[in-house]
Amino acid sequence: MKDKKQKGQSAHAHAVTQLQQVAELLRDAYAPEDRERFDAAIEKLSEPDQVHEAKLVITMDDGSEQTFTAFRSQHDNARGPYKGGIRFHPNVSKDEVKALSTWMTWKSAVTGIPYGGSKGGIIVDPRKLSAGELQRLSRAYARFVAPFVGPWVDVPAPDVNTNGQIMAWMVDEYEQYQLETKETQVENPLATFTGKPLGLGGSEGREEATGLGGVYVLEALAEKMAWEDPSEVSIAIQGFGNVGYWFAQHAADRGYRVVAVSDSKQVLFDENGLNPSEVIAHKKAHGSLTDETSKVITNEELLALDVTVFVPAALENAITKENAGSIKAEVIIEMANGPTTPEADEILKQNGVLVVPDVLANAGGVTTSYFEWVQNLHGYYWSHAEVLSKLEPLMKQALIDAWNMKVKSMVTMRMATYMKAVKSVVDMLLLRGRV
Ligand code: NAD
Repeated sequence: MKDKKQKGQSAHAHAVTQLQQVAELLRDAYAPEDRERFDAAIEKLSEPDQVHEAKLVITMDDGSEQTFTAFRSQHDNARGPYKGGIRFHPNVSKDEVKALSTWMTWKSAVTGIPYGGSKGGIIVDPRKLSAGELQRLSRAYARFVAPFVGPWVDVPAPDVNTNGQIMAWMVDEYEQYQLETKETQVENPLATFTGKPLGLGGSEGREEATGLGGVYVLEALAEKMAWEDPSEVSIAIQGFGNVGYWFAQHAADRGYRVVAVSDSKQVLFDENGLNPSEVIAHKKAHGSLTDETSKVITNEELLALDVTVFVPAALENAITKENAGSIKAEVIIEMANGPTTPEADEILKQNGVLVVPDVLANAGGVTTSYFEWVQNLHGYYWSHAEVLSKLEPLMKQALIDAWNMKVKSMVTMRMATYMKAVKSVVDMLLLRGRV
């Protein structure tokens, strides 16, 4: 079970294969008279409800016109409005957004937030656009999706190469579109997009939410693993960007020993434990994680460190069949999306490494997006402490639920997580009588 495509399979075909594997394990849990409807639900979930596609034409700075292909895949909304990011990347494809929207349906279900799954994207290399061109393209995308998004319909967010500024442009364009086209009621524009900047309806705590959510998962796991003293739990982290840094900081604040962190250039190691705030300050000041006194190791050595927990927080496909066998960590907490290839996953399983899958470990981001939406709907904003106090129980419960399912069904944490998520979506399809 992986958020990755298997060899020879498209990403969406892989998502369907995963779903079928989970369905096989779940089917017997349904009463014989419900099994036909269960099969119909799995069939329904094998394709998105709809995939919207458009050619967006924008005027470039030199006065010429350029066309970009854009998508919005809405997979399932049985548990609540469709929810998912928008990515700007040359590799975006219809197949990819279909797969990613399917995985979003499971990710929303993992922490129980009342959303379904969707995903959007534009085939574009945003580095080749000026700020003005990027704004025009973002506005064109908002106008394309405006008829089929909204607080109770589909709630987009940032994803790869999109950010709060892009969401701000989209909110503004969506609002203008509604004022131009709707005669009566205008849907709440702030509650239509999440990941917005603070001040334009963004939520306190969003920046650190993904990394911190992973640390809440770590804390719940520590109880299950009977790790009593955090200082005896050593952690190596690959990637020191938003997610990696906040994971390191919050883990260190709780007394865990963060012994290694890396970026695309270097790996910094100290077996006595690093101070993440000093490391980030050094990186900001000097553009590097290390100085002449630092102990530096290679990426291969990072993966092979004899630590309690390894945290991939950088790229997809970081753990492969070539390096999985060298991993000595007891536990992997997948903070990046899709860091483990399916072949590597099999090796980790054989070696008894417990893997907390990405859809659970990094769900703190989408969960805080949900809090942002709730605040926008109420027009009432929570303090930083309030946001974190609401995130903690949801993340910890998600880990406990997956753990219990793993024990009950004798499957991996990854499979257990998917089983719980798919079951909650199927149950809602049955309850609603959609199948
Ligand atoms: P980021 O761009 O802030 O940071 C990425 C980090 O990875 C940087 O430190 C970069 O130097 C490092 N890196 C790049 N190539 C590397 C390599 N070859 N080896 C080691 N390090 C390398 O990105 P982010 O927001 O922290 O996201 C990291 C991962 O988490 C991605 O997979 C992303 O999809 C996932 N994720 C992020 C969020 C979020 O809220 N930001 C939510 C869910 C999932």
